[in-house]
Amino acid sequence: MRCEVAVIGGGFGGTLVAMCLAAQGRDVIVLERERHPRFAIGESSTPLANLVLEDIIRTYSLEALLPLCRYGTWKHSYPKVRCGPKRGFSFFAHEPGRPFEAFSDHRTELLVAANPSQDLADTQWLRSDVDALFSETAKAQGVRVLEGVSVLDAERGRRWKLALLQEAEDASSTPASGRSQSFSADFVIDASGGASPLHTAVGLTDAGESLATRSRAIFSHFEGVETWHTVCSAAGGNLDDHPFPADDAALHHMTREGWIWMLRFDHGVTSVGAVLTDDGKSGSIEEEWKALFERYPSVAAQMSTALPTRPLVRTSRLQRRLRPAAGPDWALLPGAAYFIDPLLSPGNAHTMHGVERLSRIFESWPDRGAMAVGLDEYDSRLQAEVDFMDPLIHGCYLAIDSLPLLAAYTMYYFAGAIHSEERRRDGTAEGADGFLHSHDEAFRGRVMEAYHDLADITEGPVDAGVVEAFASRVAADIEPWNTTGLCDPERQNMYPYK
Ligand SMILES: Cc1cc2nc3c(=O)[nH]c(=O)nc-3n(C[C@H](O)[C@H](O)[C@H](O)COP(=O)(O)OP(=O)(O)OC[C@H]3O[C@@H](n4cnc5c(N)ncnc54)[C@H](O)[C@@H]3O)c2cc1C
Repeated sequence: MRCEVAVIGGGFGGTLVAMCLAAQGRDVIVLERERHPRFAIGESSTPLANLVLEDIIRTYSLEALLPLCRYGTWKHSYPKVRCGPKRGFSFFAHEPGRPFEAFSDHRTELLVAANPSQDLADTQWLRSDVDALFSETAKAQGVRVLEGVSVLDAERGRRWKLALLQEAEDASSTPASGRSQSFSADFVIDASGGASPLHTAVGLTDAGESLATRSRAIFSHFEGVETWHTVCSAAGGNLDDHPFPADDAALHHMTREGWIWMLRFDHGVTSVGAVLTDDGKSGSIEEEWKALFERYPSVAAQMSTALPTRPLVRTSRLQRRLRPAAGPDWALLPGAAYFIDPLLSPGNAHTMHGVERLSRIFESWPDRGAMAVGLDEYDSRLQAEVDFMDPLIHGCYLAIDSLPLLAAYTMYYFAGAIHSEERRRDGTAEGADGFLHSHDEAFRGRVMEAYHDLADITEGPVDAGVVEAFASRVAADIEPWNTTGLCDPERQNMYPYK
C-alpha cells in the first residue's frame, strides 16, 4: 500500500491530474470516497476550460478524452455520456412580482456567444457521466483508482501516511463498518473539492472570511423545464436578434435575491439552481424554493411543469479559501483550495489550469528542489488569481440590480477570458499566463480600480447617466485586449461569436 503520488478525490480534476502524472511514468493512485457514477455539481464548461483540456490531452497523449472538447465530437464519440450544448452566456433581468419585460434595445438581456456553431459548442456536463468516463479512462491509462475509499486523515513525515476507510462491500453495512487501512505516498495532491484532509498536517489557514463575495445556493435537476425561448417569445422578446438560442447556454435569470441558473442537458433534464445573497432562511428548502419562484412569474412559468429528479440541495455560504495551496510534497487543486461562486462558470476552467500547472511541475521529478520552486510559484499564482476573481465576481453582485451596469462590468470577465482563449489558440499563451489574463498588471489594475469605483457608484442611486459613464470607462479600459467588439453600444447587448 504505497505509491509515489496519492490523489485524494476522483472527480474529473483528480483523475485528470493522475492521468497526466501516470503519462510521465509516476506511480499514482486516486482515492475516491464515493463510487462512480455519483452526482456532482459544476456542470457548465467554457471555451477556456476546453482549450486547456485540449492542450493537456495533446501534451500527455490522452486522446480518448479529446472528443469532450467540443459538443459535436462529444455526441459523435460518446453518445451515451450525457451532456448539452453551450453556445454562450445568456442573462435576463427580472423584477419581483412582474412578468419578464423585453425591450427593443434589449436593456433587460445580455447574450455573449462563446463559439460559432452547435457543432463547435462548449458543453453542459452531466457530471455523474463525465466523471465516470474520466475515471474509466484513468484506469485504462494504468492509474489505480480506488472507489469507496475515504481519506480520513493525513500524517506528514519522511513520507505521507494516509489513514483510509474502505467502504464495506455489503451495501447494507454502515460506513463505520468499513475496513481501516493506511497508505503511504511521497507526494499528495488534494483534489477533494474542499474539506481538505491535509488541513492539520500542513497547517492550512481558513481564509474564507476574507472573501468579499457572499452567496449560498439551492439546486437540483428537473425534468419538464419549459424553454426560455417559449416564455420569452410570449413576453414579446425579439429572439431573432439573439446570436444563439438562449436556452443552449449558461442561462442566468437575474433577480433581486441573486440569480437562477438553468443548464439544459439533451436527455430532457435541466440543472436549475438559485444563488442567493442573503445569509440564509429558516423553513424548509421546498418552501423557500417555491416562494422564490412565485416572485418571478416568467421564471415560474418555465418551472410550472418541472419535476425534480433528485432532492433539492441547500448549501451554506459557498465561499471558502484555504492557504497556502502547496508545499514541497503536497498541493491542492484549485477546487480544493477555494471556491467563490458559480457566476460566469469559472470553476472547471480554473481546475484545468491547476491540473496543467501541477503536471508541468512534475516534469522535474525526482528533482525535489526544482519542484519546490515550482510549487511555491503555483501557490503564489493561485493566490493572486483568487485575489483577482473575488472582486471580479463580487462586482457583478454589486451591479446586480441594474442589468446595464452588470453587463458593462461583466465585459472585464469576457475581455480577460476571450483574450486568454486567443492566446491559447494562436500559441502565444505562456506558462506564466494567469487565469483570465489576470497576470497582466495593466489589465488587473484596471479591473481592480473599476471594482472599487463600482462599489462607490452602487452606494448611491444608479441612473442612466451613471451607467453610461461606467460603460464608457469599461470600454476604454478593455480596449487593448478587446478584439471582438465587446462594449459596442450598437450591439445592444447581443454579441455574436467573432
Ligand atoms: C453550486 C455550484 C455550482 C457550480 N457550477 C459550476 C459551473 O457551472 N461551471 C464550472 O466550471 N464550475 C462550477 N462549479 C465549480 C465546480 O464544481 C468545480 O470546479 C469542480 O467540481 C472541481 O472539480 P474537482 O474534480 O476538483 O472536485 P470535485 O468535483 O468536488 O470532486 C471531488 C471528489 O473528491 C471526493 N472526496 C472528497 N473528500 C474526500 C476524501 N476525504 N477522501 C476521498 N475522496 C474524497 C468527492 O467524493 C468528489 O468525488 C460549481 C460549484 C458549485 C458549488
